[in-house]
Amino acid sequence: MVVERYHQMGVAKSRIRVLFEYGMAQAAKVGKENVFDFSIGNPSVPAPAAVADTVRELLEMDPIALHGYTPAGGCAEARESIAADLTKRTGTKIRPENIFFTCGAAPAMTSCMQALAVENAEFLLLAPYFSEYPAYAASTGAKCVVVPPDTEHFQVHVDEVEKRITKNTQAIIVNSPNNPSGVIYSVETLKALAEVLTRKSEEIGHPIYIFSDEPYRELTYDGLDAPYIPSIYPNTIICYSYSKILSMPGERIGYVCVPDCCADSEAVYAAIAGAARALGHVCAPSLWQRVVARNTALRPDLKTYDQNRITLYTELTKMGFRCVKPQGAFYMMVAAPDGDSEGFSDRAKELNILAVPCDGFGCPGFVRFSTCVSPEMIQRSLPSFRKLAASYGLNG
Ligand code: PLP
Repeated sequence: MVVERYHQMGVAKSRIRVLFEYGMAQAAKVGKENVFDFSIGNPSVPAPAAVADTVRELLEMDPIALHGYTPAGGCAEARESIAADLTKRTGTKIRPENIFFTCGAAPAMTSCMQALAVENAEFLLLAPYFSEYPAYAASTGAKCVVVPPDTEHFQVHVDEVEKRITKNTQAIIVNSPNNPSGVIYSVETLKALAEVLTRKSEEIGHPIYIFSDEPYRELTYDGLDAPYIPSIYPNTIICYSYSKILSMPGERIGYVCVPDCCADSEAVYAAIAGAARALGHVCAPSLWQRVVARNTALRPDLKTYDQNRITLYTELTKMGFRCVKPQGAFYMMVAAPDGDSEGFSDRAKELNILAVPCDGFGCPGFVRFSTCVSPEMIQRSLPSFRKLAASYGLNG
């Protein structure tokens, strides 16, 4: 006998995976150059050369120390380095004891959810939200409550958040820059959200935490920065990842930061460590802890992503599509001209353009295009996009 809930999750393929696999099969049939796969968020820019240089340097280290277990939260070198860097960047004191290394953002978020999932716990998801959040919450027993999207500006409907807060609300997930919208929540949005969360926390008699999921933190354009949320709302727990920032999603490295300003920070940190342990975490990969510790000044190479973002946004808008202008990350949402996102994705697929309907992101009516692709593929795809536009009678 198996647990049916997990069995279902194991056999149900994500929409993204299905399209990605279809793209590979289709490429074998019609040629790779004739398939325009915008389905998956796998970084298309290589990891900076400093990453490989550091790996080579580290391989000269004592192998017993390099490949051995580290403390569960990470080795001293790594926690000290990240804490010092965050202190410098945020202007607030972060201590090594605030940092807990994880195998990326996914286990960071899962451990946070598990740690706060008291009886009848509820987590608020701001649509559009990353489609894996309900899966992260699945083992916690907590209920995910969706806050409908602001389909005009893709900021946050703060009134809608307020309406959904109950005495059981434990946390709200904030992901900015956002997957799938590419939008950065403004300081005004975050202040308005903070005001509601502060007031409602007092009313219900316990803190409502923000889980700030930040795998795209430094992937920002037009000179914009993603605001540092704990400075706006102290009860914020940060989940960070190097998967996208340093183009190494397969290496599995990231961390949780529970700043001292967070209510009950020591207890929260300990519960996250305990939850990680219960989920089978021993330590994050020792080699990669040290790689990121020695490269805190590295930033992603934004050139290609920025160029792709501008090309796709400009060209599709010219054709008459309504696009959400991305400010960060590497995704762009496009409205289905007739409101039917599944139909839009299917019609695009017939032209070998692969993009994911946003229904699974809590935002029906839109389709997500990943812009972490090659600029040449975008150029090659434009005639097919024109056909797609024409099929909807758009005038470009
Ligand atoms: N959160 C968001 C918003 C993501 O887009 C992703 C990956 O695409 C993750 C979390 C998981 O990232 P990681 O590879 O660090 O586990």
